[in-house]
Amino acid sequence: MGNSGRVRILGIEVDKVDMAEALERLTGFLGGEVLRMVFTPNSEMIAAALNDMELKHALDNGDLVVPDGIGVVYASRIYGEPLPERVAGYDLMMEFLGVIEREKKGIFLLGGNPGIAQRAGGKILQRFPGIMVKGCQHGYFGDEDVPDILKKINESGADVLFVALGSPKQEKWIYSNRDKLSVKIAMGVGGSFDVIAGEVKRAPAVFRKAGLEWFYRLITQPWRAKRMAALPKFALKVIMDRKGGRRA
Ligand code: UDP
Repeated sequence: MGNSGRVRILGIEVDKVDMAEALERLTGFLGGEVLRMVFTPNSEMIAAALNDMELKHALDNGDLVVPDGIGVVYASRIYGEPLPERVAGYDLMMEFLGVIEREKKGIFLLGGNPGIAQRAGGKILQRFPGIMVKGCQHGYFGDEDVPDILKKINESGADVLFVALGSPKQEKWIYSNRDKLSVKIAMGVGGSFDVIAGEVKRAPAVFRKAGLEWFYRLITQPWRAKRMAALPKFALKVIMDRKGGRRA
């Protein structure tokens, strides 16, 4: 397991890894003894962590933190410590599923609207027939249900827990339950189950390769505009932070 270091972006440390190195780390975690937390922040999440200490603590304790958004990659360049590439949570999950299949490990899918995790699980099985889908649970539950859900996850014997509750819910959920989970890896994956289940389409490759997935999302899901308005503010904060010399 190589450790190529981290870059600190507005106080949040992000691993300087490309997709291959991220996968290598995850594979190492699979063979470990303790729970590893994996987060995939975009610039919105990093900006949110400035005012949300619980989210910041979660990200600070991530064992692998990769840049889901191109904005984070650009920010790393402003700090003069460029991240090698965007490692989108969805892509990392799909690549990792290949490893999980090869290693004959089991997964648990937590999150999404009722029925979505099951449908995503079905699609995963079609694509990775060797994977053991040990359990599914939708993401609309109350605090009182958490003990039962933890029990369900732990008794399933899953090695990897994918948590798709959206941000910052999923990061906080993983962090606050870290001592109660007996899986090897808990990873926040945002809206990935919706994409796997076929509910939501990802941007075409041409947009993704040009670093314009955010633009595709803006035109297909215009209600995200408000969240995206935070982006120029994020860029400005990064520039100020860099100028102020508050670098890691
Ligand atoms: N979600 C959930 N429980 C909640 C809120 C959201 O399971 O209490 C799910 C929602 O159904 C969707 C995902 O979390 O599948 C959030 O997707 P989004 O694309 O908004 O993720 P983000 O961009 O916030 O990471």
